[in-house]
Amino acid sequence: MSRMHSYLSKLSLFDVHEHHMPGILLNREVSLLDLFRQSYAGWTQERPYPLLSESRSDDPMLVAAPETRWETLAPFLEHSGSNSFVRNLEAGICDLYEIEEGRITSSNWKELDRRVQLNHRNPEWVPSVLDRAGISRIVTDPYDDPLMDAAGSLGSRYHSVVRINSFAFGWHPDSKDHNGNSAHEFAERMGVELSGFDDYIKLMEKTVDSMKGLNQVALKNALAYDRDICFDEPDENLARNAWGKSNPSPEERKAFGDYIVDRFCRLAGERDIPMQMHLGSALIRGSHPMNVAGLVERHPNTRFLLMHLAYPWTQDLFGMAFVLRNIWIDLTWSMLLSPSHFKSSLRQAIEILPDESRMMLGGDNWHAEETYSTFATSRKLIGEVLEGKVKEGYFEYQDAERLARKIFSENAEAFFGIGS
Ligand SMILES: [Zn+2]
Repeated sequence: MSRMHSYLSKLSLFDVHEHHMPGILLNREVSLLDLFRQSYAGWTQERPYPLLSESRSDDPMLVAAPETRWETLAPFLEHSGSNSFVRNLEAGICDLYEIEEGRITSSNWKELDRRVQLNHRNPEWVPSVLDRAGISRIVTDPYDDPLMDAAGSLGSRYHSVVRINSFAFGWHPDSKDHNGNSAHEFAERMGVELSGFDDYIKLMEKTVDSMKGLNQVALKNALAYDRDICFDEPDENLARNAWGKSNPSPEERKAFGDYIVDRFCRLAGERDIPMQMHLGSALIRGSHPMNVAGLVERHPNTRFLLMHLAYPWTQDLFGMAFVLRNIWIDLTWSMLLSPSHFKSSLRQAIEILPDESRMMLGGDNWHAEETYSTFATSRKLIGEVLEGKVKEGYFEYQDAERLARKIFSENAEAFFGIGS
């Protein structure tokens, strides 16, 4: 192992994004097939969110899996065997479960499946995997219950974000976001009576003001899965027109969502709470990062943590991050989607971003095994990039180490105001 790789292997991590949720992460009945289905490898077989032209009844990641057999594993390991999500997960599982061949085969899957099931029945297994991954802090996005107290439900390592999607659809008690969440149900849980639009604004304020008590450290805008992210200048009158209607016009829906998102960004700025935002892919016709440039510019006091390298528009994102100094970059997921895109992007980010505080790392996973794989991959890829930069004389070895410490944990500690 090189000096750089050995240094990075010992650095502790502040993981700024996961989808660790009790129903999946702490499930005691987990099979080898579940690890593949409830991961990005699962996305190779079925995209778990509908496009605007599609509909679905259930989230395929949350419904019960068929039995593990070689025939149910082969679609991942053979048909999609060259996909990066699959490569990442298979490597991590083989490492954790000490599979000598270094791959899952028709002759070793059965014993591996037995051990996966056995390990997940032991409450110590998940925390021990996270320890082996070197993770000290995790910010999770529990989209099946955005009001959850993650420290209470998942352990003291955890904080969470509040996903605001359902609020942007809350014009009527029956309207929900793509995760099936309803802001009106949140109001009921929080004891807020919604007799008009102004009560709804109060509900948003109460949600933000309750965050600290629930260990929630940021708001999360994942609306790129629900609609386009052209969050235009708020039009309050048009937004109010949507209130109470079961079927508002497309203009009224958009104005309602735009107004709510803008209002949350303002609240976040006033209270110095960060806003994490999904960019790129998702509903790909509307998820270009430049669509949020107006929103970011309108809220110079709000700190935006923009995700996934806005794939495939990474250079547009870097351009924005150079111009708009209230942008930070959450590298989450990008190293899983494409290690080669991640490496070339990281090389550029090091050069372009105005200072060393800007980059952070996350896993974006459901099970601890995939989180472990993700950070093993991240340590390796970041090590390769930093070594390359030192070798070409861009900066010196100690500069690379300092930057690595910042990306791995120090930036997130400062950004979220949480010590390690
Ligand atoms: Zn995510």
